[in-house]
Amino acid sequence: MGKLDGRAVLVTGAARGQGEQEARLFVAEGAKVALADVLDEQGEALARELAKEAGDERVRYVHLDVGRETDWAAALDTVQGAFGRLDGLVNNAGILRFNELSSTPLEEYQQVVQVNQIGAFLGMRAVIPALEAAGGGTIVNTASYTALTGMTFLTSYAATKAAIVGMTRVAAMELAPKKIRVNAMCPGAVDTPMTNPAQLDPDADPQEVSAAVDELYAKLVPLGRIGRPEEVARLALFLTSDDSSYITGQPFVIDGGWLAGVSVF
Ligand code: NAD
Repeated sequence: MGKLDGRAVLVTGAARGQGEQEARLFVAEGAKVALADVLDEQGEALARELAKEAGDERVRYVHLDVGRETDWAAALDTVQGAFGRLDGLVNNAGILRFNELSSTPLEEYQQVVQVNQIGAFLGMRAVIPALEAAGGGTIVNTASYTALTGMTFLTSYAATKAAIVGMTRVAAMELAPKKIRVNAMCPGAVDTPMTNPAQLDPDADPQEVSAAVDELYAKLVPLGRIGRPEEVARLALFLTSDDSSYITGQPFVIDGGWLAGVSVF
């Protein structure tokens, strides 16, 4: 028995990183999974791989730019057509831009808002009718450690992630009568192409690439290493499955203890 048997879940930004691991784990736990992304080639290849293991009827790839309202409507039509229902959404897609406040162009700020904040808003709003029709469901929003504390050079990113935590609380209250639970994940640093672009270098040794970031985070994080996308996927599974049946409206920090405090040694 899988924890998501019989459920259909849409994961955005599923072509790589945390979204990829969420899609892999959800399929392994029995869900029908729609993988959505703008990286079509990569997303389609992953969907083909998962469909080989789980069957065509359980896996779909769908092109979805989360910041575009019309894309959401089309993607949901595809998912409903394929699976006949939708029980869960993981709003995972996101982008990061490093810049000092004083030199952040408005266009860059707005681009981050469009994907991270408007994308999460459009996604939550779009899936409500389908989740209600399914008799209830779950929404897991991907915020960040930076929603809860500051980090230099991240004005646009931190703003959107704080907005996601705010929206999560309001949505949880409004959607509880429809039996839709809404929670947020707040990862610290996780070893994906977002924090570790060296992962995208085809000539790099993956073990060396991960060891380099572990060394950096050994000094910053009590657990002494960067997080793995598989670990965030397990939190997404918890929040999507009935294991979290009495939890809604909460931000869940997954950061190796980074937010616990400051070490003086
Ligand atoms: P990633 O860059 O590896 O993956 C992000 C995915 O989102 C990519 O597949 C990308 O193509 C997709 N994407 C980007 N813009 C999109 C759009 N407009 N529409 C649809 N898909 C889009 O990064 P990741 O680390 O796996 O990030 C996943 C989520 O986790 C993001 O929301 C990110 O902000 C958040 N997060 C990451 C970390 C970290 O340290 N990696 C920490 C905290 C939060």
